[in-house]
Amino acid sequence: MYYNEHFHTIKTLANSNFSHNPKNLILMIADGVGLGHISAARIANKGKLNLDHCKYIGLMGTRASNEFITDSAAAATAIATGVKTKNGAVGVDPQYKPLPNLREILEQRGLKTGLVACCSITEATPAAFIAHQQERMLHEAIAGDFMDTEIDFFFGNGREHFIDREDGIDLSLRLAAKGYEVLESIEDLPYVNHGKVAGLMTECPGVDRGRGDYLESVTKEAIRILKKGENGFFLMVEGSQIDWAAHDNDTATTVKELLDFDKCLGEVLEFAARDGETLVVVTSDHETGGMTIHDGDEKSGKVEGAFTTVMHTGVMVPVFAFGPQAEQFIGIYENTDLFQRLKKSILQTEKGLVSVS
Ligand SMILES: [Zn+2]
Repeated sequence: MYYNEHFHTIKTLANSNFSHNPKNLILMIADGVGLGHISAARIANKGKLNLDHCKYIGLMGTRASNEFITDSAAAATAIATGVKTKNGAVGVDPQYKPLPNLREILEQRGLKTGLVACCSITEATPAAFIAHQQERMLHEAIAGDFMDTEIDFFFGNGREHFIDREDGIDLSLRLAAKGYEVLESIEDLPYVNHGKVAGLMTECPGVDRGRGDYLESVTKEAIRILKKGENGFFLMVEGSQIDWAAHDNDTATTVKELLDFDKCLGEVLEFAARDGETLVVVTSDHETGGMTIHDGDEKSGKVEGAFTTVMHTGVMVPVFAFGPQAEQFIGIYENTDLFQRLKKSILQTEKGLVSVS
């Protein structure tokens, strides 16, 4: 398999002087990605990725509280709240007690916050930064939980969970009443200059099925809007469909989705290098497919991927960091500790750690 039409040149980054502490935090989650997926995408892209710019690297364990193999809900909850929970649970502990998440904590500290996904915005990974529900399939309840937040920017599909609900309530009207610009597509996004954005699309296809540069464009616009805040911002961006391709044991689509994520990462790193006050952390919630490489050629971009399962696996996933406090992310640790490190990095001031309740 060759990927020449998906090849991208990696960004040359500004030589930045990083501040001691980050003002902004961008967390990039490549769903289902382990070293096999990264290796495949890197070979396909002729031996280089934007990810190569991240020099501080760690390894992270992903198990859930009740099973060794995690799902995306328990994994995202661990990253978002620092607590291991049961598979299927979103933003609650194993006894279903709601847990404060990183986005909420940072919102309370006055940061602007945002979420970007290329799946339903009510899916497990983005939901862990918003919702507190026993079960990830409760999409309408998760959509309802957005109403209890002051999130500044969110974009994904899943429009039906907001407007075509069993309770008959049209949450898009409530969002508009709360001051959100409610958008159905990315078309009007460049014209939004102030206020909050709720991007609720009906669908978000795969990158080779018409998604185009959605992830990269929306992420750029999210940064443009969120950086207007005086107190910095937190943005989570998910490469949602890499996991799906790996479940299908489809090397070609896995590579294309991951290259799309890496292109988006290039935009993020370009901003972070220029800005100097933005910490970028790139990781995955778990590995999918037990992916490995049976043959490859970095000159031609030829890759032969192989998989050991159609399920998630229990191998550690890598964590990559760039920017101020990036050195905090080296070592081997659990996904709950990633939360602690993220929280500490963004709340650390020159005077010491800001206390959080
Ligand atoms: Zn999965």
